[in-house]
This record gives sequence, structure tokens and C-alpha cells, in this order.
Amino acid sequence: MQPSVAERRPQSFDRVLSSMCTQPHPAARRAAERFLAANPGDPATYETIAELEREAVASLAEITGLADAVGVDGDTEARGNIGVRENTDSHGDIAAHGYVTSGGSESNIQAVRSARERAESDDPVVVAPESAHFSFHKAASVLGVELRTVPTDDAGRADVDAVAAAVDDDVALVVAVAGSTEYGRVDPIPAMADLAVDAGVPLHVDAAWGGFHLPFSGHDWGFDVDGVETLTIDPHKVGRAAVPAGGLLARDPTALDALAVDTPYLETASQASLTGTRSGAGVASAAAAMDELWPDGYRAEYERASELAAWFAEELRSRELDVVDPELPLVAFDLPRATFEAVRERGWRISRTGAGEARVVVMPHVTRGSLSAFLDDLDDLDAP
Ligand code: PLP
Repeated sequence: MQPSVAERRPQSFDRVLSSMCTQPHPAARRAAERFLAANPGDPATYETIAELEREAVASLAEITGLADAVGVDGDTEARGNIGVRENTDSHGDIAAHGYVTSGGSESNIQAVRSARERAESDDPVVVAPESAHFSFHKAASVLGVELRTVPTDDAGRADVDAVAAAVDDDVALVVAVAGSTEYGRVDPIPAMADLAVDAGVPLHVDAAWGGFHLPFSGHDWGFDVDGVETLTIDPHKVGRAAVPAGGLLARDPTALDALAVDTPYLETASQASLTGTRSGAGVASAAAAMDELWPDGYRAEYERASELAAWFAEELRSRELDVVDPELPLVAFDLPRATFEAVRERGWRISRTGAGEARVVVMPHVTRGSLSAFLDDLDDLDAP
């Protein structure tokens, strides 16, 4: 007989090497529990969670360079304005520059939706590198836009010439990836932004996974790059919030206005999010995690994870396995199919890229101890 729900526990993260989710920070866990029943989708009724959402958006704005780009300084009152629309006449209390979504897929779908709503073409097209997350395929399907994917270069980054060749009068949005799902690659965002500006279309940056590493990695990726108009960054991944807490940010509030619909039965007059009722746990935990960890905690995690990824890559190479050089803390490497299946049999949760490499994401729960144990298993399986 099945154990009851109360008797069951989530699986341990000890052997989870492929996921982009992780253990929430303890403060995020506590905040999530406190706000389990609050609905940020109705901010006029649930005022405290609405306030926490504004704080979370303000933190995301700092992390992504949006606060600097729109000229908001560090004081709390000014910071508050970044997360809430000052003029509430038309759309109610919606966020001016962003909101906490239910994950990267919602953010990407909404970025495409906003671009479609503002497009001049009757047959809008989104241009994205083939490395873009599958949520863009969902977006194209539900929104009835064409997704034009273009090849990446040999290193797995968007090929700027290929992107340029794909842009025509129907293009409503160009997408760049800052931390690709399969290889952790960062596209040449300044060059793609220049191209988008020249074409008169917005650039959306998908930093769902990479966004909490990139402030420390030296890449040009956020709103400090002219032409970046919308951006996805997920607190529930490297940000250590509880699931589901994504983030969508926009340089210009009109990008979010384009998403707002009237909401007659709520206390709030309109809603820009894709989902109606949203997770108060996600929002509160995002605010709490960023409060605790931005910037020092995230910097320390970037440094720890990068060193660990470099060490792991070297260990794999010393076992004569081909490794894709990590750019952010994600290691893809060739592993014979039989070995891949055998390590999975031993409980390791790893996944494969489309091209067949094994893939390990060095998330906050992944330690030197767990990677050493994984390598021991590889050695054991390889032993004659
Ligand atoms: N974008 C990127 C780059 C991702 O890696 C992912 C998920 O791994 C997503 C978007 C989708 O995020 P979610 O699963 O939270 O919807």
C-alpha cells in the first residue's frame, strides 16, 4: 500500500546534479510558509504581499542594472517606485517595471506577448538563437507568432551575423540568452542589442538561470546595455527563493501596460500577469532571499560554484572525457550512453543535452563532496 501523503518526504538533493532548482535559503523557506495563503494577483486585497513584491522587484532591478538605467537611487522610497505604477488610474496597482512571475517560462511567454501586442506587423516574428529555452516554442505556439531560430556559433552562443540575417520588417522581438540551459553560455548581448536598436525592435534577455551569477562574472548582459528592453531572471533558481518565483522586468512601463487586462471582480482594477492567482510563497521567499543574499551571498555563491565547476571539469578531463569549457557554473561533457545509464541507476540525477553530452549544473546544493562521490562512481564503473 502507498504511504500516506503525510508520511512522504521530498527526495534529497544530494544526488541531484541536473536541476536548476535548489534548496531555498532558510529565510526564504520561512517567508514562504508565512505567505502561503496570500495572493499577489490581487494586491489591493493582499497588501502586505503586494509590498513585498515591490521590494522583490526593486531588488531585481538593482541586480539587473535596471535601477541605475532608469535613475533610481538606493533610498527606499525611490526604490519603491520602481516596483509600482505611480499613476494607478488606468491599470491599478500593477508593477511599473516588473513582477514576480511563476517562473522563467511565464516571463518569456509574457515578453513575447508584450512584443506581439506592440508590433507593427500583422504576422509578428520572434528571432532567437537555437539555444533558447523551449518556453519560447510554447510562447510562439500559444501566441500565434512565428519563432525564427538561428544557429549558434561553435561555442554555443548566438551567431550575430545569423541573427542579423534573420531580422526583417516582421520581426517584433530579438531574444538573447544569458546563461543557456544546456551549456550555460552567454550570448554577445551588446552586439545583439545594437542590431535590435538598428532594426527598431526590442531585445529580450533570458537570464532565468544566469541572472544571479552575471553581476559578478564580468559579462555585459543587463539593462546597462542600451537596447535591452525586457529581461527574465528567476529567484527560484540560483536566487534561492522557493518555487515558483520567476521575474520579468521591463525598462519601459509601457511594455507591461501592453499586458494589462481589466479585472472586474477583484479589488484591483487590472492585472498584467499571465496567471491570475499567484504564489504568495514565491513572492515572499524571493523578497526574503534577496534581502539576505544580495549582493554578498550571491557573490560568494558565484565564486564557490565557478571554482567547483572548474575543478570538476579538470577532474573529468583527467579521466580523458571531453568537456565543454564552462563559462558559468554548468559543465557539459561526453559520457558513454552505458555509463550515463549506470550512474543514473546508482541514483544520480543527471540529464543530457540535445547533442548527447551529460550535463551537471553546479547549483547551491551541489558540493565538492557530492561531485567527488559522483567521480568515485564513474571510476568504479570504469574499473575492469
Ligand atoms: N529560461 C532558461 C534559460 C532556463 O534555463 C529555464 C529553465 O531551466 C527557463 C527559462 C524556464 O524556467 P521555468 O522552468 O522556471 O519556467
